[in-house]
Amino acid sequence: MNDKFKKMIFPISMILVSIILVMIISSFALKPKEEEISYSGFIKKVYEHEIKSVKITSNKIEITPTDNSNKKYITGIMYDADLVKLLINNDIEFSAEIIEQDSLVSFMIVWGFPIILLGILWFFLFRNIASRNSGGVMSFGKNNSKIFGEKKTGVTFLDVAGQDEAKESLVEIVNYLHNPSAYVAIGAKLPKGALLVGPPGTGKTLLAKAVAGEANVPFFSISGSDFIEMFVGVGASRVRDLFKQAVEKAPCIVFIDEIDAVGKTRGGVLGNDERDQTLNQLLSEMDGFDSSKGVVILAATNRPETLDPALMRPGRFDRQIIVERPDFSGRLAILKVHIKNVKVGSDINLEFIARATPGAVGADLANIVNEAALRAVRVGRNYIIHEDLEESVEVIIAGKQKKDRILSPYEKKLVAYHEVGHALVAALLKGAAPVHKITIVPRTMGALGYTLQVDEDEKYLMSKEDILTKIKIFMGGRCAEEVIFSTRTTGATSDIEQSTNLARNMVTMYGMSDEFGMVALENIQNKYLDGRTVMNCSEETATKIDDVVKSIINGCYNSSMEIIRNNIKIMDKIAEFLMQKETITGEEFMDILKSDIGLLENL
Ligand code: ADP
Ligand code: MG
Ligand code: ZN
Repeated sequence: MNDKFKKMIFPISMILVSIILVMIISSFALKPKEEEISYSGFIKKVYEHEIKSVKITSNKIEITPTDNSNKKYITGIMYDADLVKLLINNDIEFSAEIIEQDSLVSFMIVWGFPIILLGILWFFLFRNIASRNSGGVMSFGKNNSKIFGEKKTGVTFLDVAGQDEAKESLVEIVNYLHNPSAYVAIGAKLPKGALLVGPPGTGKTLLAKAVAGEANVPFFSISGSDFIEMFVGVGASRVRDLFKQAVEKAPCIVFIDEIDAVGKTRGGVLGNDERDQTLNQLLSEMDGFDSSKGVVILAATNRPETLDPALMRPGRFDRQIIVERPDFSGRLAILKVHIKNVKVGSDINLEFIARATPGAVGADLANIVNEAALRAVRVGRNYIIHEDLEESVEVIIAGKQKKDRILSPYEKKLVAYHEVGHALVAALLKGAAPVHKITIVPRTMGALGYTLQVDEDEKYLMSKEDILTKIKIFMGGRCAEEVIFSTRTTGATSDIEQSTNLARNMVTMYGMSDEFGMVALENIQNKYLDGRTVMNCSEETATKIDDVVKSIINGCYNSSMEIIRNNIKIMDKIAEFLMQKETITGEEFMDILKSDIGLLENL
């Protein structure tokens, strides 16, 4: 409901209520006082000449007495054939009510007014609903419709860092919106729609807005889930409306976010009438409308594999634009875009932050910069220093510091050795990413400490050796626990989980085991979300896979164990230092390591 309507409904209902109240009160107050008497009492009064006049209505007899008081008597009607004769004989004035007319008037008074008022209310209500379904759907700034419209997005391609390939494919759409006639003249048809595909937070929505901003046309966005309502048919009518109005407002961009909500493959085991109908409507509208009018439909999804194939057919979303996770240079560019909005100190090293955040998407990086700014404010500084940025990277990896969690000296020692175990294995294996930081300050996400490694270059490929090295580093923590404390703690839970996943993928997806060779035993189901996999093999094979995974893990465990056993002395040294300082840098760590002469030749 819109605001105007809400404002109207209150005074109208107040008027209605007060009119009804006035009618009730007046019907009581203005009537003369009436006293009910018996029929025999009435006859008696006739004989005693106490009655001046009588009025016989449909349900009672109203009696006006001769004394001039305001009093009236009433009595019920009896079958009395002699009454008229009696009244004439006693010279009493009498009359009867004219039934139909009178009851109509009173009926009007009692029911007519409220019905008229209710009618007025309905009128407003329907007018409102009607305006929502027709004129109002794509109007600017009204939030009663599900479509969000902006005349100018104010976003340009400069705001979207990295994603150069995606931008390249979108430039054509921008040019087209600037000058459709050039394309029409030559007979070229532009794609009616483009589908932006990629993991969440990579900037799909931002890119769509940038297209509108660059082309300087209005931007209308609706989320796929907004099409679907409780009632079958609502979604389809919304789609129809959307296209009708997009054509009216052309040139413009219509952006359907999370299109998988409507675009799921039709049919299926759990068919959904409403969604199927909505999708059918969308498909037929996309066929029906003429792209030369200058309407471009952009849509975004992170689950392209669930979309109905009919949506991707040429003539619909025939252009797919992949919006990938940014690589090192992309991350650096994104950081630069966002760092522009905050005040920074001179020691900022964005290259380092970009290197430390492999796998992070644009939204993460924007968040890192913002967290850093918040941290600066918290400590009362009015600009960001490098430490703020580094800390916020760690917050995203491991959660906030939890300084009030006090570990017992034994636990603290255990955590220190565990982390040094990881770091030591990392430092002593060839090809491992350098250790950047070791800390035993507990974090809110459950980590009691962690070792941060930062690769020098972005890796696009991982070799079998790289993966084995990673697994060995994961094993390092548990090995240290076993060698130094002869125990096994729950601290290694996530190490075990991650290394098992790596080993499993080596066997089932990367073809890195001699036992199975290049056979795909598992498939990734949703590439852009959690990357869940489905098994693709018989049960016997699954059992064999487990054996192979176990042997990979055990092999790595044994070689980590060897490294730890051979370096107990140096571990003591580093762990001691770590327990004192709680956080040590990669350089401090390497200095201690190198000071041990016996180790130098290994490095
Ligand atoms: P998606 O729609 O892909 O889930 P969004 O476009 O909503 O992601 O991105 C969320 C936020 O992340 C944006 O508002 C922006 O601040 C930031 N962001 C994402 N990608 C980029 C990028 N390539 N350049 C700059 N900022 C980005
Ligand atoms: Mg989005
Ligand atoms: Zn660990």
